[in-house]
Amino acid sequence: MRFHIITIFPDAFDSYLRESIIGRAIRNKKIKIRFYNPMDFCPPKERVDDRPYGGGPGMVLRPELFLKAFAKIKVKKPKVIFFSTSGKKFTTSHAKQTAKKFKDIVLICGRYEGIDARVKKITGAEEISIGDYVLTGGELPAMVLIDSISRQIPGVLGKYESLEEERVSSSEVYTRPEVLKYTPPGRGKKAKTYRVPKVLLSGHRAKIEEWKKRNITP
Ligand code: SAM
Repeated sequence: MRFHIITIFPDAFDSYLRESIIGRAIRNKKIKIRFYNPMDFCPPKERVDDRPYGGGPGMVLRPELFLKAFAKIKVKKPKVIFFSTSGKKFTTSHAKQTAKKFKDIVLICGRYEGIDARVKKITGAEEISIGDYVLTGGELPAMVLIDSISRQIPGVLGKYESLEEERVSSSEVYTRPEVLKYTPPGRGKKAKTYRVPKVLLSGHRAKIEEWKKRNITP
């Protein structure tokens, strides 16, 4: 799987893509990441953004520079994604389908007031939001997609992690100690005791699975 990222801030990805499961997937060549920076196509003394038609605060990223960056991606039938706050909400099932159907994924990251909307139309991109909040740019959404889509690629997760992915996985998890004593910081604060739910210590498989289903991760 190859991710082609169009961004004016490629350095924002550095540390995340080096670490843990995603870093290992890149080193093992399960996924490849390529950057295309619209700034590289910006003539000297020109800006990457311009004032919005219709007025309003903030600047809009110019379409020509993003289209020149897009033209550098020479692959057949990529899936093109354009990040925006009003796009379709990204989900795990979306990640699964994308991983199954596509070899090349283009991620177009906005900044400021966003990218001129014609880029979305010309590239035939799907507009995607990662949630009902406004971020400063599309780089975090791109990392979210790379992470969740990569998890669906065979061989990216280790054997143990794959097993975890397939079974009923609770969002509420516990490890040792069985009884945790915690004193909040500050004078006169008393220690409180926090216990692991009894059912998890019971050894009763069916009851444990039932408890986990009630705390399930979608
Ligand atoms: N008024 C603009 C809007 O509502 O789309 C704000 C643009 S935001 C400051 C800059 C860029 O960040 C957007 O063009 C988009 O690429 C990205 N972005 C911000 N929040 C996002 C979200 N929840 N999901 C996906 N992309 C987001």
